[in-house]
Amino acid sequence: MCRHLAWLGAPRSIASLVLEPEHGLLAQSYAPRRQRRGVVNADGWGVGFLVEGSAEPVRWRSSHPLWSDPSFASVAPVLRSGAVVAAVRSASVGMPADETAAAPFTDGRWLLSHNGLVDRAVLPARRDAESVCDSALLAAHVFAEGPGQVARTVLEVAAADPAAFLNLLLTDGVRLLATTWGDPLSYLVDPDGVVVASEPWDDDPRWVNVPDRHLLEVTPDGVAVTALEL
Ligand code: GLN
Repeated sequence: MCRHLAWLGAPRSIASLVLEPEHGLLAQSYAPRRQRRGVVNADGWGVGFLVEGSAEPVRWRSSHPLWSDPSFASVAPVLRSGAVVAAVRSASVGMPADETAAAPFTDGRWLLSHNGLVDRAVLPARRDAESVCDSALLAAHVFAEGPGQVARTVLEVAAADPAAFLNLLLTDGVRLLATTWGDPLSYLVDPDGVVVASEPWDDDPRWVNVPDRHLLEVTPDGVAVTALEL
């Protein structure tokens, strides 16, 4: 399964979020510590973030391993944002290999990453999906239902596909929402903001593990974790 990460807080460099942490996304692309399925995440990567002067998020995605991109590594230290979603991908069997299948996905306002697997037959066919990848179809479905309803949407999709793995991570720069449904997730509250990640990027004791089948909400009021109940 993929690994993903989001930051909501004061602007900071993309490199400090994605490349520099000892056990961060770059390390997780070849040596994840808490991955339950799959050994490496080498089928692509993506970083999406909000920048001043643009209403729409910008994205940099690739179908290659994150560790093989010196151009990104050279630019990431000077890219800064206060709202970021990033992911490294381990493609599910039968899914497309090109970069359009790499998270984060967007509706022009929200950035969304899916760590997991879902039967595409239970999702409505949507023309606005960015790829035929299950995660892109799920993203389009979440956008259409309303990102604020993500808890309800996850419960409905899980009811339709009980074997699904549905860890979602999304932000619009105001709120950050995440679900756990089959895979791990942790968060760390820093004085400057909140980082949410599939696995902690270091051994800082402030990391908190989110229980499975929960919704995490980060707003200007703080962090709330609530159970997702069928
Ligand atoms: N199913 C998605 C894909 O094929 C996500 C895979 C994952 O979480 N590893 O890209």
